[in-house]
Amino acid sequence: MRHAVLHSGNQYIFETENNVSVSFTHKRHAFNIFVNPGENLWTFDLEGRLMGMFFEGKNIRRTLDNRFYLKTRELIGLDVFRTVRELSQIDYQKEYAKGREYLEEYQTELPDDVQKIANKILEWDLDKLNGQANEFTKVYKPISILPPDQYLALVVQITEGCSYNKCAFCNFYRDRKFKIKSIKAIEEHLLSIKDFIGEGIHVRRSIFLGDANALIIPQNQLIATFYAINHHYPYLTNIYSFIDVYTGIMKTSDDFAALAQMGLKRVYLGVETGNPELLELLNKPRIDSNLHKLVFDLKQGGIDVGIIFLAGIGGNTFADKHVKDSIELVDQLSLRAGDIVYVSEYYNTNPEYQKVVDDAGVEGMNRKEIRRQANYLRQQLKYILPKQVKISVYDIQQFFY
Ligand code: SF4
Repeated sequence: MRHAVLHSGNQYIFETENNVSVSFTHKRHAFNIFVNPGENLWTFDLEGRLMGMFFEGKNIRRTLDNRFYLKTRELIGLDVFRTVRELSQIDYQKEYAKGREYLEEYQTELPDDVQKIANKILEWDLDKLNGQANEFTKVYKPISILPPDQYLALVVQITEGCSYNKCAFCNFYRDRKFKIKSIKAIEEHLLSIKDFIGEGIHVRRSIFLGDANALIIPQNQLIATFYAINHHYPYLTNIYSFIDVYTGIMKTSDDFAALAQMGLKRVYLGVETGNPELLELLNKPRIDSNLHKLVFDLKQGGIDVGIIFLAGIGGNTFADKHVKDSIELVDQLSLRAGDIVYVSEYYNTNPEYQKVVDDAGVEGMNRKEIRRQANYLRQQLKYILPKQVKISVYDIQQFFY
């Protein structure tokens, strides 16, 4: 038995005799079901696909290619470490079914426009969601990583892979050959993204150009690419991309200014360390003065930068040099409002890295030591950077698309 519905803005709340409240919120970008006590929450995109749920204390995220992950926290000493584990269907089917049950029970009492989205959600069962894995692969190569402030971007893979692909610590793109797509292929890609994302587009806040160094595309073709993107997504006016030093320096400040005019806001550079010896060990091309020139040209062109450092890389052997040279490097870059410096705790995901450091006799770091170095780096960065430059954590494990 339940009490009458309470309506507050775009939220519809039902109170039962057992003092359980069930609310449905139809937002501009998503739909939520919230049940209290228990604070259980289900979030769907406006296409009706589950995005995530918080159920009986379990924080579960679903990706567009239909993988489900459980996010947890682990305490080691006084440090909290966030962990992520992929789930099998048996681990999340009950939780998903429970959200649908609430919707089935109350949907006829909701106003017409809310019923419409409720019906859409109910059209998706687990089989139909499973089919999304296959649909995703027709549109995208795996989306390996995005910067944390871009997790809600719409990815457009105008290139695939990494043009270099040889850094010993990185295996984000080892599964694919580098490829620059033709304008025709990009147009087709944009149309297939539209079909696939549908009303789910309302969750997306910006465009991110995939994959590792999309701006390597020759300038004329890049302008045509931006034009096509602006045409298909005129309401997603901010565009972001990774860039690397060795391809970035092929562009001039005028090139960057032209891209800024078409929406390019910030580019992200995996600098990893300021120490040249460590870069060489990692098989990452040395940056030297090219980085300064690239950052200067980007600034001249009106584009912000995100600089990424890897805490723990090079282990205890390189710790002092890595920290000192990285801080010195940042100090020389004249960063300003709009720029971000990310510190990412290194996870050893590439066996190549282990071989390289073992061969060089490098003494590794455990997770707590890596955390300590990350904290120290961030603290030192605070001393040298203007307040307007953000210093932030980049946890690659927390990325889901
Ligand atoms: S770190 Fe960047 S440049 Fe190096 S292989 Fe990975 S994606 Fe390519």
